[in-house]
Amino acid sequence: MSEELLFPGDFIANAEEFLPGEGTYVENGKVCASEVGTVKKDLEKRVVSVECKVNKAPAMQRRGLTVLGVVAKASEKAGFIDLLPTEDEKKRYFPISASTVLRVNNIRRGFVKSLDEEFKVGDIVRVKITDAEPNNVVVSTEGPNLGVVKAFCEKCRAPLVRKGSELVCPVCGWKAHRHMAKDYGEANAA
Ligand SMILES: [Zn+2]
Repeated sequence: MSEELLFPGDFIANAEEFLPGEGTYVENGKVCASEVGTVKKDLEKRVVSVECKVNKAPAMQRRGLTVLGVVAKASEKAGFIDLLPTEDEKKRYFPISASTVLRVNNIRRGFVKSLDEEFKVGDIVRVKITDAEPNNVVVSTEGPNLGVVKAFCEKCRAPLVRKGSELVCPVCGWKAHRHMAKDYGEANAA
């Protein structure tokens, strides 16, 4: 079978001969490619599909993109952020397997002693992608609109409310500190 690279719109087979599989569509009785990739023909089931040869992740996780995530792990030197689905670019989602790292020296300008004093597990954060390898995405919160946009009380899980530069629980009065985004708690922040 040919390993020729197909592009969206390229003719693959007649629709009478083959059913359209993944990465294809039918137009005027012709099965065409909807993805960049190589063709796969299942002669038994009479299905043609296109095996995508373009890694979609880097396009989404490109440098400079600002995205929302949830803090999955926070320690002294680094945190892991699970990126939330984005409505951008044809509603493509971030692969769950991608580990997204926020290091303590990328929180803000100047010295930060410990990342887990600025972020807690479960916080919703707005981060900027500074490095995007397919399986290693590095993010930063250095910038006025970056940081925690929503945090929850460690005692009762109620959403914390901003009070000056700190956070307070409206239910139990618990006080907390986070590296907040400028628009923390605003309606459209998260
Ligand atoms: Zn509380």
